[in-house]
Amino acid sequence: MLISGKREFLARALQWSGATELMRVLPARDSLLVLNYHRIGNPADDIFDPGVFSATAEEFEKQVSYLKRRLDVVTLDEALAIIDGSAREPKKRCRVLITFDDGYLDNYEVAFPILRSLGVQGVFFLVADFMGSTCVPWWDEIAYLLRTARNKRFSLDYPAALEVDLDRDGFTASLRAVIHLFRRAQNQDTTGFLRSLADRTQGDALPSCARRFLSWDEAREMLAGGMAIGSHTQSHHVLSQLSPEKQAEELSHSRAILRDRLGIAADALAYPVGVQSSFTEATRSIARDAGYRAAFSYYGGKNLVGSINAFDVKRNTVDYQSLNRFFVQTSISRVTGSSHWP
Ligand SMILES: [Zn+2]
Repeated sequence: MLISGKREFLARALQWSGATELMRVLPARDSLLVLNYHRIGNPADDIFDPGVFSATAEEFEKQVSYLKRRLDVVTLDEALAIIDGSAREPKKRCRVLITFDDGYLDNYEVAFPILRSLGVQGVFFLVADFMGSTCVPWWDEIAYLLRTARNKRFSLDYPAALEVDLDRDGFTASLRAVIHLFRRAQNQDTTGFLRSLADRTQGDALPSCARRFLSWDEAREMLAGGMAIGSHTQSHHVLSQLSPEKQAEELSHSRAILRDRLGIAADALAYPVGVQSSFTEATRSIARDAGYRAAFSYYGGKNLVGSINAFDVKRNTVDYQSLNRFFVQTSISRVTGSSHWP
């Protein structure tokens, strides 16, 4: 895999200079590093959003083996005790929690066997309405429309103006821009947005797909195999786009469905999209009232033990990156508690 970019270059320089070896002997920051994955596989084999692929199976196995060797990988229960302050440990260390969002079928078929064979728990945040389905969520639909667009240059005007030029800006940058527009809190008509995008792009209608999301039976097997499960809401609607009543429905219905289907009391929630604009102060209290003990965001940042916001636990993305960059990034996180680096 050829991956370029400033961070990849810097990672090679740090590795080459011995800086990462030096970081190994520095004391760890007392922190909880939460990594977030979406899909495991090769985006080149897929016709939808390549941005949700986090690693190939081979890379994922190497990443988890590395985490297990170098850091303390914790379970969801252990992480919750760190978050609420009930875990009192004298030793300062960087713990890692491995999480997955959306419940794609590859989470069951690929990630689960790897985690189980390494004896590491993953936390899988599931969307009730996606379970066992062939559903194509909005980000995958946007990607498909842009891939098959007959109009390479078009404009969108809702919820704000956006000019798209696929030839000039390329597929990846155009996709990020349209997804960014879609997930704005001002987007109150998500169906209309997609209809308008189909019209402006003149892209193809969605193809019929094989099953794309794991089933309830598979989720039960994952629980029995040592994995943990949390809620990623009922429909994956961006919560800040919804009224407080609708948000409460999304959070409490999905929790009730997990209880009925899997017999678990879901303690953890992952906000759909998870960026700062995707949930509000009201969302946090609705989540608490719905019975969750913690909710995870997705815009980076650090969780230092003793000052973790239980309803905004920071997670760091694992995007399609080289193993070298993953190793450097986690070495930095171990020492600083943060995954932010130049
Ligand atoms: Zn999601």
